[in-house]
Amino acid sequence: MNVHDSELIAELMVKKGYRLTANADEADVVIVNTCSIREKAAQKACSQLGRFREVKKKRRDMVLAVGGCLAQQWGKRFFDKIPELNIVFGTHQIHRIPDMIASVLAGCGSRAAAAFTKHVRSLDLFPLPVEGQVGAYVTIMQGCNNFCSYCVVPYVRGREESRPLKDVVQEVLVLAQHGIKEVILLGQNVNSYGQTLGNSTNFPSLLRAINRIPGIGRIRFTTSHPKDLSTDLIGCFGDLESLCEHIHLPVQSGSDVILERMNRGYTAADYMGKIELLRKACPGIAISSDIIVGFPGESEGDFQATIGLMEKIKFDNVFSFKYSKREGTEAADLDNALNDSVKELRLKTLQELQDRHTWERNKAAVGSEVDVLVEGFSRNSRSDVTGRTRSNKIVNLKGDANLIGKNVTVRVLKAHRHSLRGDVVT
Ligand code: SAH
Ligand code: SF4
Repeated sequence: MNVHDSELIAELMVKKGYRLTANADEADVVIVNTCSIREKAAQKACSQLGRFREVKKKRRDMVLAVGGCLAQQWGKRFFDKIPELNIVFGTHQIHRIPDMIASVLAGCGSRAAAAFTKHVRSLDLFPLPVEGQVGAYVTIMQGCNNFCSYCVVPYVRGREESRPLKDVVQEVLVLAQHGIKEVILLGQNVNSYGQTLGNSTNFPSLLRAINRIPGIGRIRFTTSHPKDLSTDLIGCFGDLESLCEHIHLPVQSGSDVILERMNRGYTAADYMGKIELLRKACPGIAISSDIIVGFPGESEGDFQATIGLMEKIKFDNVFSFKYSKREGTEAADLDNALNDSVKELRLKTLQELQDRHTWERNKAAVGSEVDVLVEGFSRNSRSDVTGRTRSNKIVNLKGDANLIGKNVTVRVLKAHRHSLRGDVVT
């Protein structure tokens, strides 16, 4: 979501005549887009700001702006923390950045702060694809009403609000006209898409509408909350040709005690049941997840329940995090915080297990023929291109610029730990 917001900010600036630079130290305007979901992300943003603050001390004409979740949380207090800052803007004020910068540059005061309202005005904006871009993010809703006890999102991104179906469809049509082949629909909980629209629109109806758009061969979405993954949505994986055979379904923990304290609204057995239905509706569907280790009070038994669930499901991929306390959330008041060395050890154990599962799944793909949408040149070689299977596995193959943006059938020849290697089937 933040990556998408950053793309949008870049697009707005380019429209105003600015050019992007790879060297931030030379830039006239530096905009730091922050995330506060975990402590590490917040620390990273602060250390970046610290660095730019030093650059600005030498180049006083540089405009320094901060936005995103941390800015939403701290508001104008950011100016006390970093006096060199010129602009602070909240998560729903992206559209105002160019004007704020213009007013600072015009000398109308050296500081500007955008109101930190939670109105979703920025939703109407979207970046047009750049040359050679193959896939695009599309925001379908903002905010979240779930209040998982560890999570800061509902506080910084506000209440859930869906975009009207026709606006989303219109955006995808425009993207398709600009050559986009794959869309990734974004929302904190796409399963409740439509609830604020006051009509019968729901997420499956949006998927069906996008499935009919010519040129869009692949649809993905993130994130889906297990508690309200409906049978209708599960059925879409079997029915809609453009919907990719992959779902990101964060489980967070395999222990019912912890799931309850996280306020997730399902048990491990409920989750397993949904996985079974998904695999029945769409055999071979790839499943990825998010897991938090070291939630306050997580016992060794709770952690082993998570490991047990992973052994049963054998996820294709897992994003795993050490729990970090976020001020203002319900879990911040819980006792029994775990010390960092326990969290570290559990994270390592979990990641080693997942690496084995990813590796096994990659090896199982060797010899098969897969559809790859080529996204660009590979990072390591200009004579190789890289793309993804419909199940979201990275595949590298020999090829040149002509292949970028095309779907090719590839025979998988070799499995690496985090990618596959193959050849185009002629
Ligand atoms: N809306 C999505 C996830 C958004 S945040 C969902 O419900 O799945 C992305 C991931 O960050 C979460 O799935 C969770 O695993 C992790 N996360 C969120 N808050 C966290 C915290 N306080 N500490 C550690 N990880 C956290
Ligand atoms: Fe956070 Fe839970 Fe909402 Fe996801 S569903 S954004 S984890 S509160």
